[in-house]
Amino acid sequence: MTGEAEVPQIRSVTEEELAAQRAVMARLAAENAARPARPLAWVDTYGCQQNEADSERIRGMLREMGYGFTGSEAEADLIVVNTCAVRGHAELRALGNVGALSHTKRAKPEQRIVLCGCMVQQEHMREKIRKSFPYVDLVFGTNELWRFPELLERMLRPHRGRIFEARDIDGERYEGLPVLRAEGVRAWLPIMSGCNNFCSYCVVPYVRGRERSRRPEDILAEARQLIGDGYKEIFLLGQNVNSYGRDLDGGEDFAWLLKEINAMEGEFFIRFMTSHPKDATERLFDTMAACEKVERHIHLPFQSGNDRVLRAMNRGYTGEIYRKKVAYARSLMPDVALTSDVIVGFPGETDGEFEDTVRLVEDLRFDMLFTFLYSPRVGTPAASLPDPFTKEEKQTRFDQLLQVQNRISLELQAAHVGNVYRILIDGEGDRPGQLTARSSHNRLIHLEGSPALVGTFRDAAITGSNSYSLSAELRDKEGD
Ligand code: SAH
Ligand code: SF4
Repeated sequence: MTGEAEVPQIRSVTEEELAAQRAVMARLAAENAARPARPLAWVDTYGCQQNEADSERIRGMLREMGYGFTGSEAEADLIVVNTCAVRGHAELRALGNVGALSHTKRAKPEQRIVLCGCMVQQEHMREKIRKSFPYVDLVFGTNELWRFPELLERMLRPHRGRIFEARDIDGERYEGLPVLRAEGVRAWLPIMSGCNNFCSYCVVPYVRGRERSRRPEDILAEARQLIGDGYKEIFLLGQNVNSYGRDLDGGEDFAWLLKEINAMEGEFFIRFMTSHPKDATERLFDTMAACEKVERHIHLPFQSGNDRVLRAMNRGYTGEIYRKKVAYARSLMPDVALTSDVIVGFPGETDGEFEDTVRLVEDLRFDMLFTFLYSPRVGTPAASLPDPFTKEEKQTRFDQLLQVQNRISLELQAAHVGNVYRILIDGEGDRPGQLTARSSHNRLIHLEGSPALVGTFRDAAITGSNSYSLSAELRDKEGD
């Protein structure tokens, strides 16, 4: 694992190296085309949107290599499980599902199983797979994504051993992997990878490497392409989008990027995730307010309302600084939706310190709150702190916070009733005739209408609410 103090060593993958991967893809595509039936792959994804975006690249490469896709693990010739390491729960779920694959592989011995992503970037997890999951054929870490074709080809050779590849490096830059996006109106657009913040509880900097921004021209070209392809929601992704560009020479920052994409022609939403409060500047909020396509929503994880705990978390702000930033954002955009993440039960967090978190939640009234029980992560500083509080005590606090937030969510949701919003209809609901949509505040909305409306913007009046969704009626029922 790489330390915080060192100067990051970021290398660009060369054109020759990428060409070699393309040659492998062409070779495998020719082999697969000569088979009686196209081989089928199943790609299963855990964790955050960054992982979803990586899986879209894995699918893109697989498609280029002549694979078709299936939603059934029993039918698949190749299973790729893209894992998450952010909390123990995500790891246990992935391991449980990989465990179940021993049965599918027994029924179909020629099936090949691949594990990749953050969980297996960790040495101790690779050891566990080596020992306890002998039927897993290939394991590769987050740094090897662009080498997937080469690794897959090696894996498919007869009599090859099991393959484990996970270089412990700061990170590499590369462009141009094929992407097969999920169907729908939303496109994930990664603008950077890695993280330099080293929050003391978090494994991300260790498994995703140092922060590196994609070049602005590559991002803008991709955004233009996506809009041209008809996507209606461009979702910019990074662990800390507010530090976009710091590692580049050009002086472009995240606010600049928002402005550039906002200026592109067409009606679409621009969303982004995640903003670290320490780097959420007035310039960011000013830009949001000035850009009509940028959502009126900011996800700004505060993690704790107590200053000692925030310091121990290495977050780089106090409760007061956080409150001031929120006040500034709301002064510019009174209707801005605010969502956040919070960790309950950080090692040594006392009842009184937890009460500061509850107070902050009561005061700031988040539209939605993602509440997590602290989960110790191997190799992180917080994992070695004394932690005198029991699981039950932490669970009690967790339940208390949920109750507080549920009440606030219900109240805030009800306040939307009667308003008219420009909404993006993004899919069909569970019932026939039901559609789902999002407002610029990222509220989930249900409404009645024809499936032909999916992918369009409409004006809708909010008619009802519950704690997690709104119902609405179209204003312009007859269409355009
Ligand atoms: N880069 C983003 C968050 C990535 S992880 C940010 O800084 O906001 C998403 C969320 O998972 C975090 O905001 C945090 O609330 C939670 N999380 C991360 N590590 C955790 C851990 N060890 N235990 C519990 N929750 C954790
Ligand atoms: Fe983890 Fe902190 Fe980086 Fe977010 S900013 S990914 S919480 S280290």
